Amino acid sequence: MPITVVGSVAFDAVRTPFASSERMLGGAAVHFALAASFFDRVAVVGCVGDDFGDRELELLRSRGVDVGDIERVSGGETFFWRGEYGFDLSSRTTIETRLGVFADFQPRLSERTRAADVLFLANIQPGLQRAVRAQLPAARFVALDSMNLWIGTAQEELRAAIAEVDCVILNDSELRELTRRPSLPAAAQEVLALGPRAVVAKQGEYGAALFTEEGFFSLPAYPLESVVDPTGAGDTFAGGFIGYLAAHPAQEIDEAQLRAALACGTALASFNVERLGTERVQCLRGEEIAERIAALQRFTSFSVASLPLRASRRQQAGGVGVAAGG
Ligand code: AMP
Repeated sequence: MPITVVGSVAFDAVRTPFASSERMLGGAAVHFALAASFFDRVAVVGCVGDDFGDRELELLRSRGVDVGDIERVSGGETFFWRGEYGFDLSSRTTIETRLGVFADFQPRLSERTRAADVLFLANIQPGLQRAVRAQLPAARFVALDSMNLWIGTAQEELRAAIAEVDCVILNDSELRELTRRPSLPAAAQEVLALGPRAVVAKQGEYGAALFTEEGFFSLPAYPLESVVDPTGAGDTFAGGFIGYLAAHPAQEIDEAQLRAALACGTALASFNVERLGTERVQCLRGEEIAERIAALQRFTSFSVASLPLRASRRQQAGGVGVAAGG
């Protein structure tokens, strides 16, 4: 099994200025798995209650997602999250979180999910992330996500978890909060110094940036005129990003692959926000993804034939030209 994801499987209630739902399939692991399934086989490790039906499982199965390690806790309720968005969708308020069976989640990995060579630790308690990571010592690429809750309440454990992965995928604000550095590049460098070889900063409608030891790369978000619901965009991004890397089984993942992966994450996330919850990604077609990646490539390529820079008066008087480095 090439990809294992561990994280929340949920029911979400969402209200945005453009749409709302009182109950729909959600959760970080679900959004991730649907996106990653366009690139490779993926298995979810999670837990649900009695209220989680076959319909929900069937939706995941229809994309080939392995749901064998989604534990059903009898007598329990599935994790429930209710959120509301402001008018420009950039601010979100959590109205209600009912942890249900997720409160006592102890990830149990079968031999199949332990054999994955790529692992994504979605946003769960960092101690649990470490326990899962330890069960896949031979995985060739491991990435994690987290949230402000853990930065505030379990920072030492989170830093230890970060030191044990290859890649960290966080919102830009979370990177700043974790390091207390206002500059995003400085924050990313500090996280790289903990051990990972790549840090991805998600920047919502402004795109995403990749920081590695070798360099920096950034892509804007795909320009959409209509955004309906950003819930799960971050996890969908991670699914596209990790899915691409998993599908290219090089032992050593290089800078070029990470950049291409960033484009895949960006494209997948752009579909996620077009409709409520998982609605858009679950009916997405491969050709649509390819088109959007090609468009991103066009939008971000430019050339500079010549650079007609004028020297300042002082430089001219002193005979110092721009080309001469003045
Ligand atoms: P995102 O919009 O990428 O931050 O992901 C939103 C998804 O994360 C929703 O589908 C929620 O069900 C899920 N979620 C919300 N809060 C939590 C939490 N505390 N732990 C794990 N998953 C959560």
